[in-house]
Amino acid sequence: MDIDFETHLETDDAWKDAGLCNGMTQVFFGPASERPERRRERELLARSICGACPVMMECLSAGRQNYEHGIWGGENDEERALAGHTPRSPSRRSVIAAQKIASKNRRAEEDRDELLATMAS
Ligand code: SF4
Repeated sequence: MDIDFETHLETDDAWKDAGLCNGMTQVFFGPASERPERRRERELLARSICGACPVMMECLSAGRQNYEHGIWGGENDEERALAGHTPRSPSRRSVIAAQKIASKNRRAEEDRDELLATMAS
């Protein structure tokens, strides 16, 4: 998902008051020892709530900009890592793997841009 950060830059957290997840922290942030199947079920429930939330885009943007953990705007740690916004101190191998894929993709894009610039000159 492409995010227009210029459009969604937030200078305060006022949007959080409109979030549908208020009071449901345990649904959006799992314990460190959470089993994968339990996490999938919890994240599915969280995403269903996010899907109806009026501040989903603001939340998704804030999650990326602040390198957060947990579900933000329907996006989990792996998805933020793939988008180039790996959560601080990633705790799962799958998040680190997603970070590596994002880095590899970014390098490939840089190589492509460099090649195109060389061809154009
Ligand atoms: S998008 Fe999801 S995590 Fe963000 S405020 Fe809304 S319900 Fe909460």
